[in-house]
Amino acid sequence: MSTTAQAAKSASALVLDGKALAKKIEEDLSNRVDNLKQKTGRTPILATILVGDDPASATYVRMKGNACKRVGMDSMKVELPSATTTEELKAKIDELNANPDVHGILLQHPVPGHIDERACFEQIDLDKDVDGVTCLGFGRMSMGESAFGSCTPQGIMHLLNHYDIELAGKEAVVVGRSPILGKPMAMMLLNANCTVTICHSKSQDLASFVKRADIIVGAVGVPELIRADWIKQGAVVVDAGFHPTESGGVGDIELKGLENVASAFTPVPGGVGPMTINTLIRQTVEAAEKAAGLNAK
Ligand code: NAP
Repeated sequence: MSTTAQAAKSASALVLDGKALAKKIEEDLSNRVDNLKQKTGRTPILATILVGDDPASATYVRMKGNACKRVGMDSMKVELPSATTTEELKAKIDELNANPDVHGILLQHPVPGHIDERACFEQIDLDKDVDGVTCLGFGRMSMGESAFGSCTPQGIMHLLNHYDIELAGKEAVVVGRSPILGKPMAMMLLNANCTVTICHSKSQDLASFVKRADIIVGAVGVPELIRADWIKQGAVVVDAGFHPTESGGVGDIELKGLENVASAFTPVPGGVGPMTINTLIRQTVEAAEKAAGLNAK
């Protein structure tokens, strides 16, 4: 292909700009929070639980608190020592479940290894599970019933819908099967009538699956594991990974050369990441609207 032809193709690949969309959604959320305050005199509150002193987790919790502030919500920061037991953490979650001022609960993952994280996630009331981490929420979402979806895949679905990406009948390949990302992503794409394949670390010949995908989601946590030359012409490429590098960062999918084959792709950073926190905040506002008897969007 000539350089000119390549440039023309590159220019035609749609950039799925999560940063811009998240900003736009925040404006709408600010209005909804104002409306709630006016009608009920109450401010939506997200309780964030941080156990231990992992600096990355502390940064994520801070970012979530800042996002709450930007839309006029409050966050209640619960910080617990590393030595907290499973029972103590479950008791704290019960306390937040029972607090009518708290509309959403986020337990920052990962918790220290001695804690039964799954048992603690399950302790969160369905109505306050705005991070979409409970089995009940996952099951309901999978069955097409009302529940908050896990934030990263839910944010990806929002991004794809915003850009009118056609999903029905498409072949989707999700690389990764974690409970917070790969599995719910696959169920959401299935519910949107994609034909879905889930790949994982035991999958044989990953490239062969990726090569036939119309929609590919990288949710692996391995820098640039998925190569640009595996991507089918015209595919939609979604990259949930972020790995800092000296020149900024890379995702789970090789970006270089991708713009020449993909019809649309998420940039790294600025694609999936901003949509995750945005979804958490949006779902908390919805929980607050529901608790107040207002029509949630
Ligand atoms: P995770 O829990 O570590 O799961 C990784 C998944 O990838 C596992 O299912 C694993 O398979 C699979 N995998 C690992 N190596 C593989 C290989 N060589 N070939 C095929 N599959 C492989 O990670 P996660 O929490 O889902 O996160 C995945 C990525 O998304 C990470 O880059 C993470 O930073 C990113 N992330 C981003 C956001 C955001 O807000 N943007 C949020 C969450 C996660 P097995 O199941 O067989 O082990």
